[in-house]
Amino acid sequence: MRLFAANYRLLGWITLILIGGFITTTGAAFVASRDAIEHSISQQALPLTGDLIHAGLQKDILYPVFISSMMAQDPVVRDWLADVRSEPALIQSYLDNIKLKYGTVASFIGSEQRRMLYHTYGRPNPIEEGRQQDEWFFRMRAMAGKAYETNIEIDAQYSGQPTLFLNHRVTDRTGLFLGVAGVAITLDTMNQVLARYQARYERKIYFVNDSGKVMLSGVMLNEEESSLERRSGMKAIAPAILNRSTTPTSLAYRDGQSDVLVNSRYVPELNWYLVVEQSVSGNGVPLTRLLTINFLISLAVTLLVLVVTLLTVNRFQRRLEKMATTDALTGLLNRQALTVLFRQSTLVSKRNGQPLSAILFDIDHFKSVNDRFGHLAGDSVIRQVAAIALEVVRESDLVTRWGGEEYLVLLGDCKLSKAITMAENLRRRVAEHDFGLPGAPVITISLGVAQHRDDESENAFFKRTDDALYGAKHGGRNYTNASYIHPPAPQLF
Ligand code: GH3
Ligand code: MG
Ligand code: MG
Repeated sequence: MRLFAANYRLLGWITLILIGGFITTTGAAFVASRDAIEHSISQQALPLTGDLIHAGLQKDILYPVFISSMMAQDPVVRDWLADVRSEPALIQSYLDNIKLKYGTVASFIGSEQRRMLYHTYGRPNPIEEGRQQDEWFFRMRAMAGKAYETNIEIDAQYSGQPTLFLNHRVTDRTGLFLGVAGVAITLDTMNQVLARYQARYERKIYFVNDSGKVMLSGVMLNEEESSLERRSGMKAIAPAILNRSTTPTSLAYRDGQSDVLVNSRYVPELNWYLVVEQSVSGNGVPLTRLLTINFLISLAVTLLVLVVTLLTVNRFQRRLEKMATTDALTGLLNRQALTVLFRQSTLVSKRNGQPLSAILFDIDHFKSVNDRFGHLAGDSVIRQVAAIALEVVRESDLVTRWGGEEYLVLLGDCKLSKAITMAENLRRRVAEHDFGLPGAPVITISLGVAQHRDDESENAFFKRTDDALYGAKHGGRNYTNASYIHPPAPQLF
């Protein structure tokens, strides 16, 4: 029972150590992976998305810039603007041509001399100084050092949509201001680009202006999302987002339960800030799977180790038990085992009322076998005698090696007479046996036999058997001597 408890304590410790180890390594792996994922999102993935969108938008912006620049350089436009007498129909058809050739782009030309704006929406309009809607023309006129301007305004006059204007100055060879050539595109195109990237990367992507108002976003926004100031987590980092540095800024804020990483950059062409957001919590899914797999592996390894340990411990325990009770040379039970069994046998015999007998026997002149043939030959003789004894007795009888070349046999349910027969049988078998020692005299045994008396102690029973053996030795050896329960009645003459 104590051994059993010790076994389970050992298994408990092993389980504790394994689980402790697994929890530590899994925890460390989890933290490292989460940090690595967050780092790669904030340092690589988000800036990369920002770069891609930026590049995509630049393409959409640069294309109209190129068209307006081409118009401004075109001699047809220059000559037409320089000459007040030239036909308005000519420039009207030129503009229609441009629109046709370049698809979606609406184009226009404003003349300095005529103060008229020609465009693809319909009839030309006059340009008047001091009027708010014509302010852009005079701004371009006064502009020095720069050839073009990118401007986003609501096109109140025509489409009513937020529109991107690319205005280009037209000058003659001397640098005299002749007018403005330009194109206008609605922000639909850019919206589509944003929506596409948003869907592909599962990230929030939008543009904000200087005051933090969301100007352009791929999806419909609710009231709260329309400005950085209105979003609780964002408010604190809004000033950092709205910074005109050309290198992207990496920021983070907490939105309820999840951490959100933010990448922002200033886009000078639009005078807006491009913001890319990604919630980190969504990335917990692969990590949770990793944890589950780890847990299952740990569980399997723990169970495996426990089973192997239990089997090993049990095997060693059985081996130890066997070693403690078995004689290594003969494989018979040893004296320790017999001490327990002797007592048990007397008790059983008493309870069942069955006779119990014992045979104690010893190899005769064994010292001389050792002396003549050596110890190994002596061992072999001891083994062979044990084997003969096992053959002669019944399966239920106990044969033990009592010591040296002495054996004790316990015979349950066996009367003295039967025990004497068995002892004689054994004596004869040994005497007839060929031990394989050339030139050796016949090897014999002497035996003492006794039957257990009621209420006799084990010691007394053993002593009677031993005395009987002593008698057999004195009787000349190769002899069976019995200790009778009742000494034979004296013969009267
Ligand atoms: P006796 O007929 O009076 O029994 O004479 P004996 O020579 O057998 O005398 P004794 O019992 O005193 O000697 C037993 C010897 O057995 C002594 C010891 O060296 C030897 N012996 C005891 N155990 C072993 C063993 O395991 N192997 C071998 N080879 N010899 C053993
Ligand atoms: Mg002997
Ligand atoms: Mg002896």
